[in-house]
Amino acid sequence: MAERKPISKKMRFEVFKRDSFTCQYCGEKAPDVILHIDHLLPVKEGGKNTMLNLITACQSCNSGKSARLLDDNSIVTKQRNQMEELSEKREQMKLMVEWKNELEKYEEEQVELIETFLEDKMNVGLTDSGKQNLKKHIKRYGFNEVYESLEISYNQYFETRKDADKVINYTYRICSNREYQKQNPMHSKQMYVRAILKNKNMLHNDIKVRSMLKDCVVDEYTFKMAVEIAKTSRNWTQFLELFNEHFLMDY
Ligand SMILES: [Zn+2]
Repeated sequence: MAERKPISKKMRFEVFKRDSFTCQYCGEKAPDVILHIDHLLPVKEGGKNTMLNLITACQSCNSGKSARLLDDNSIVTKQRNQMEELSEKREQMKLMVEWKNELEKYEEEQVELIETFLEDKMNVGLTDSGKQNLKKHIKRYGFNEVYESLEISYNQYFETRKDADKVINYTYRICSNREYQKQNPMHSKQMYVRAILKNKNMLHNDIKVRSMLKDCVVDEYTFKMAVEIAKTSRNWTQFLELFNEHFLMDY
């Protein structure tokens, strides 16, 4: 028989955090419901106390899965259950506060990283509303997307300190553009052509290349044509020439 080992407090917290304090079966959240840790593969079938095997489940979803041990009808049992429920609720409230604090700290760290970039490269800071706006975009697009877009925008638009606002505004536009492009089924093909240019150190104007590829690489045929052009061009100017010639464009 497999032995049921207790799940450590730390592990419980990690599982709750990963699952955002939400029952993964019905979507109810603490503190509306009491949360438990459920084994996906039951202990008696060899399930272990690992992150992969543990999942957040509310009382009713969890109890539906396993046999009840206590006789729920006695008054003593009921009272004891209520007490346990209360202290469990308190405990989980504490964990949630801790989790929210951690998230906030993490958010602050991300904002600081961006601020460092702005200070180092452009010698500018963010206003309070600028910070709020940044947080909003990080939440929506993810930190990496915002950071990468900022780098692209900076390389493209920064010449003097006066351009800082422009760089930041374009950062958000680039985020939104990139998200839009990712939903496009040809996106990975377009990025493939871009990667060829990048590897040949010919990605002279990333924004321009992205928009050229977005306009022109629309099916297998145009994809192959763009790959050929990227492979055979010796430099950026020649790439532009060949591209315009083959796609009858004027970039
Ligand atoms: Zn549930």
